[in-house]
Amino acid sequence: MSIWFIEDETPGYKLHWKVNRVLYQKQTPYQYLEVMDLEDFGRALVLDGAVQITEKDEFIYNEMISHIPMLTHPNPKKVLIIGGGDGGAAREVLKYEEVEEVQLVEIDEEVVKAVREFFPQLADVFDDPRFRLIVDDGIEFVKSKEEEYDVIIVDSSDPVGPAVNLFDHPFYNDCFKALKQDGILNVQSESPFFNQDIIKKVTGILSGLFKHVDTYLACIPTYPSGLWSFTMASKAYRYSDVRLERATGINTRYFTPDIFHACFKLPRFVHDLIGK
Ligand code: SAM
Repeated sequence: MSIWFIEDETPGYKLHWKVNRVLYQKQTPYQYLEVMDLEDFGRALVLDGAVQITEKDEFIYNEMISHIPMLTHPNPKKVLIIGGGDGGAAREVLKYEEVEEVQLVEIDEEVVKAVREFFPQLADVFDDPRFRLIVDDGIEFVKSKEEEYDVIIVDSSDPVGPAVNLFDHPFYNDCFKALKQDGILNVQSESPFFNQDIIKKVTGILSGLFKHVDTYLACIPTYPSGLWSFTMASKAYRYSDVRLERATGINTRYFTPDIFHACFKLPRFVHDLIGK
């Protein structure tokens, strides 16, 4: 008999994953955490019934949320990641020699413990001397920060539970203040098919705060609809002015310099959605 894990997206759309083995289940103070071995995607971290990362395709999401802002900023030395307890975004950010410090603020220590135990290839990053883990609510953490970071990456789960307010004006305003004069904020902004209200809201709020706001896309098989959006907000630098020499020698599997420019070319319905 086979076991299937079913991820509910809408009343009319569910993803079915064949499970070889459930490796871990725990109710944490914040969410229901599971680690499963999936037939086609390898080990998966699941929070409140939503797949966060799988061994097979985590590289796509983590490269795309990280390299676009890291290259748009010409010299990012201090980077803050909010969420991202799986360590994948931090791994990508630490590929840049100029980075002196990466702070990762994860609300749920149990996520980090599970990654250490079940995803050793991701957990390496937690021992990098430039990496600092802070277990805290990212919303509270940024409130007291001023002009401290070159890049902030919001690698959050979906806007439910502890992540709800990571998609709202007060938090983005605090991120704006926490960034240096030429800082860049990059957020995962959900699916252009299923979460159009989120993309519109995020774009609207960030456009009221930052000089440049741009949406880009990546194909991520694991996430509902496969098409995923990121919204990058910059105080000074524009992605279209970037020279990509710094990408040379950075080892990636999805990202390439061509992808850097291509990912900002949006299908018409996404253009219409964000009003560009
Ligand atoms: N790539 C994933 C995705 O889009 O599905 C998200 C990766 S990561 C696992 C998301 C993390 O954000 C979770 O570990 C969750 O605990 C964390 N998180 C949610 N709300 C948070 C908050 N307010 N402050 C800090 N971390 C938060």
